[in-house]
Amino acid sequence: MSHPEIIRSAALGSSDTNTGSPAPSAAASNASVYRFEVGDFECAVISDGSTFFPSRPHFGTDAANDKEVHAILADHSLPLEQVRFYFNVLFVNTGRDLILIDSGAGKNFGDACGKIAAGLSMLGHTPEQINVVHLSHAHFDHFGGLLTSEGKPAFPNALHLVAKEERDFWMSKDPDQGQAFYDQAQGKIFVSQAREVFEALPFTTYRDGDALPGGVLPEAAPGHTPGHCIYRVRSRGEELLHLSDLVTNFAVSFDKPDWPFIFDCEPARAVASRKKILAQGSGSKIRAFGNHLPFPGLGRIRPEGPALLRWEAEPWVF
Ligand SMILES: [Zn+2]
Repeated sequence: MSHPEIIRSAALGSSDTNTGSPAPSAAASNASVYRFEVGDFECAVISDGSTFFPSRPHFGTDAANDKEVHAILADHSLPLEQVRFYFNVLFVNTGRDLILIDSGAGKNFGDACGKIAAGLSMLGHTPEQINVVHLSHAHFDHFGGLLTSEGKPAFPNALHLVAKEERDFWMSKDPDQGQAFYDQAQGKIFVSQAREVFEALPFTTYRDGDALPGGVLPEAAPGHTPGHCIYRVRSRGEELLHLSDLVTNFAVSFDKPDWPFIFDCEPARAVASRKKILAQGSGSKIRAFGNHLPFPGLGRIRPEGPALLRWEAEPWVF
């Protein structure tokens, strides 16, 4: 048997059942959960899915023209017109609590997302076992998995936590999102979706610094939305810095932290929060996590020159 025949035969299975058709793929997609530890905590990233957005106008300012955005993407060997957005959700088992931070986009991107329950099952858990859910901010790509398609709580036994300022903002008479949407119609949809979730779920609100279930500490990082939070997951002297939507792309957000992102409600405040937290995390021993960075979104923030940062993805461990 010649070499190519051996390879073909192995791929197709035993020769007496060989029909000549290609072997079915072993799996429909790549791994969508990634386990790791922070101190004594068992953690995992669950992929809710991913989708593409146009690179402009999502990134850059009026002063930053298409050319500059495209140059950054080209420098990272990325497609220029369409940028992949990942929806990674952090799961933390503290030994006492099973905690989810955000819930992904759910059915808001059709079949591209909505994979949290499947991911939990791969980890050996059910949605009913989750007893704490944090919401970093009330955009649909973060709360989309909190309600089932029938409008019921997806995590029926969980304490749902959100910053008081965030809930108050979306439930106020006329939330001022600045220009953080494509058009006025989309801005109104953002408000009605956020209100639907806050009305359907009994959220418990907290203020910055309040004592909450141990080990997962929200911290105000306002600007993307008024009550936008990042998180510090701490156990036995180790820390994981959850960056929430301070960063939305591993190339642009780190190359140009002073550029607003299109969905930043208060761009100047969002830039200040981003620069402050990235500076704290850069070059330190702190491990970081980005829910919109390439799955699983774990890595470190590296300084590269006086004003430039780089995202250094962490190698997978098996
Ligand atoms: Zn987001």
